Amino acid sequence: MLELTDMQVIRALSKRYDFSFSKGLGQNFLIDPEVCPAIAEYGIPSRECGVLEIGTGFGVLTQQLALRSEQVTAVELDRRLKPVLAETLAGFDNVSIVWQDIMKVSLRDFLEAHFGSREVAVCANLPYYITSPILMHLLESDVQLRSITVMVQKEAADRLCAEIGSRDAGAVTAAVRLRGHAEQLFEVPRTSFYPSPKVDSAVIRITPYETPLCTPEKLSRVLRIVKAGFAQRRKTAVNALASGLALPKEQVTEALAAVGQPANVRFEQLSAETLLALADAMQQ
Ligand code: SAM
Repeated sequence: MLELTDMQVIRALSKRYDFSFSKGLGQNFLIDPEVCPAIAEYGIPSRECGVLEIGTGFGVLTQQLALRSEQVTAVELDRRLKPVLAETLAGFDNVSIVWQDIMKVSLRDFLEAHFGSREVAVCANLPYYITSPILMHLLESDVQLRSITVMVQKEAADRLCAEIGSRDAGAVTAAVRLRGHAEQLFEVPRTSFYPSPKVDSAVIRITPYETPLCTPEKLSRVLRIVKAGFAQRRKTAVNALASGLALPKEQVTEALAAVGQPANVRFEQLSAETLLALADAMQQ
């Protein structure tokens, strides 16, 4: 197995395949030999559980996932990596790569097509320019993932694991809380990547509730409200929701009162339970 945390190997591969790192695609590859095994250990509950990886890079994490799961299917956008991966993943017959933009993947169809009835966990060192959209994409989908274990910027990790109602919380925090439980597993310094980014990172794991809090249909209604609410978080919930969802203020005020909230409450102060009740009260 090629040692992909070795800078000499990385340089040799880059040279052989004339590969240059794309900042725009968030290509900061892991070079700390302890990090990928740890992500794989935390992220893969059993050999039978399939793994969806997002963004392979040179395959440093993919190798560790493939050592621990019967099936790894990765989605990678940058086709320049094709010849590199053909070399670095040679010998792993349990890995397949789908050359696509993860944001354009319909998760339900994708998992059915590639994993069938197998349980699936997501493991990834996410491209930072698109962390929240990718997590929203996963959380909004109606598929039940076993877990989502991802490397994100430290600041994003704090936000994702914040309590709803706290200052750090945002729309994606609410989406996490509505789908499951989030925990920060460990921090990773910027020096663990090549090229080194300007900020430190952390690995988080989201474990969806075994019994979802609501139906997928209701979840998408709640998330519509959440996005509108957080889009104008400094306004009162009434103003943010009335303008974000193009509703009369009276209707929003009544709905908030029906779930026990005063007219001047700010959206970021609402708990997950209140958001669920609010979706029914607003008939949204
Ligand atoms: N897993 C590797 C590692 O840990 O070294 C690479 C991680 S790097 C932070 C992010 C990877 O995601 C890059 O390989 C990049 O090309 C890929 N990527 C960026 N945008 C993507 C997208 N929209 N869909 C799929 N992959 C994407």
